[in-house]
This record gives sequence, C-alpha cells and structure tokens, in this order.
Amino acid sequence: MQKHRIVAESSSAAKTAARDAAKAAPHPLHHAEFVDSVAKESQLPPPGPPEIAFAGRSNAGKSSAINTLANRTRLAFTSKMPGRTQQINFFRLRGGALLADLPGYGYAAVPRELKEHWQRFLSRYLATRQSLVGLVLVVDARHGLSEPDRALLGGYLTSGRPLLLLATKADKLAPSAQREAARAIARDVAAEFPYAGAQVTTVPFSATHRIGVETAEATLAQWIPDAIVIAEEQDSASVNAHSARAKEEAPRPRGMARGPKYPR
Ligand code: GDP
Repeated sequence: MQKHRIVAESSSAAKTAARDAAKAAPHPLHHAEFVDSVAKESQLPPPGPPEIAFAGRSNAGKSSAINTLANRTRLAFTSKMPGRTQQINFFRLRGGALLADLPGYGYAAVPRELKEHWQRFLSRYLATRQSLVGLVLVVDARHGLSEPDRALLGGYLTSGRPLLLLATKADKLAPSAQREAARAIARDVAAEFPYAGAQVTTVPFSATHRIGVETAEATLAQWIPDAIVIAEEQDSASVNAHSARAKEEAPRPRGMARGPKYPR
C-alpha cells in the first residue's frame, strides 16, 4: 500500500518546503472573483480552463476555508441555513483557472429526494468533469469522513486526480491531536481506497487560526501552474515576450497533457 502524505506545518521541513513553494507560487486563490451560480448540470460552463472543486459536508468549514485561502471575508458565503444553497458557485482565479464551490451535503433538514439528486449530480460532476484538475475535500478534523464523503471519494479517486483533504477546525484540538486527527483521516482513506495513496495529501487546517494555509496553497498551486506563471508575470510587471516564453515552459502536474483544454 502506498503512503498517503500528511503535511503538518509544525514540521520544520514541511514549513520550509511550503515556504519555498509559496514564494514560487504566491497564493493561488487570492484575487478570486465570482463568476456564476449553477443549479443544473446543463448550466455548467463548457469545460475549458483547469478547474479545482471544493466539497464537504454542510458546516464542515468549506466556505470559511475558501475565504481564508482567497484572503477575503465574504467571497464564499458561510451559510446560516446549511444545506439550503443547492448550487455550484464558480469563481475565476488569477490566471484563468476556475474554482467550483460545490454545495454542502449531509444536512439533516434537506428533503431526501433533493439530497439524493445533489449526491448524484456531484458524483457525476466529480467523476466526469473533463477540466477538473483536483478536489479539495473539507472534513471536520474532530468527526472524520462522513458516508457522503466516502461516496464522493469512491467516484472521484478512480479518475487518478489529486485530492487535498483539509482536516478543518483544527484549532479546536491541541497541536498533537491536530496531527493525529489528520493521520486518522488519511488512514481511513488509505484503508478504503488503497490504490489512491499517491493522490492524497492531508493537511490539518483552521480558517480562523490560519493553520495549514501555506501548505494548502502550495498543493493547490501545483494543480494550476498556468495561474502561477501569470501571477508571477503580473507581480514582476515584466514584459509580454518574457511571459509568453515562461508560459510555454510552465511545469504541469504529472500526467496532464499540454494545451488549453487539459484533457484527461
Ligand atoms: P460550510 O457549511 O462547510 O461552508 O461551513 P462554514 O464555513 O459556513 O462554517 C460553519 C461554521 O463553522 C461557522 O460557524 C464557522 O464560523 C465555523 N468554522 C469554520 N471554519 C472554522 C475553523 O477553522 N475553526 C473554527 N473554530 N470554526 C470554524
């Protein structure tokens, strides 16, 4: 069985690696802008730019995680009526990649039919969306994986794409318990999906206490290298000729073909 990666920022090696990666790839979700809300499969934007999806059980902390990573207070709306907002919100990232904020699931008060409809929609989206380059699954560090989390992972991981598991609300645990909680979630995933070891990175995370932010950013930046190159170009205010060359030379995640469509 392959080992799953568990990255805790309290490890100094991980800290240095995350800092280096963050320098090379500054904050991939900063400057995200809302694009559209989609309530039906037929309304999904045509697959094009690389897309990363955020999923999680209602109230796990998904919106807070997106807001923290985007360095905004109200980009993704934290919900007063969990599970009621049944739509996918799309945001455009600097450099053109898309972020798909998937509806939270598992909230008890949502009618069963609606729950099942969305569960099917999300499973299909994760299994078949051509332009999807990675999934961030937000799991409450204290509770671990829920049944709907497992169902989604089952459909997604067979695609061979990477998964970033954010073990959220880690601030509610002592530092050693934070790492242990992330390890327990990673072990759980490894036991259920033993073929997926190399795809999974698990990070103790807190939106309120900014735990795991740099590590999560470094992972996301690896999924959308084009966005990074463009960000560097903007930051350095350097010339267009150079940016075209840099773009051509941009590294891509393993297994990802060249070209604007990111086919799989
Ligand atoms: P979502 O339904 O998954 O989008 O969850 P939200 O982001 O709306 O968060 C649900 C609740 O958990 C809210 O009351 C948040 O303030 C709280 N919350 C979210 N993330 C954290 C965190 O990292 N630490 C703590 N202590 N609370 C959090």
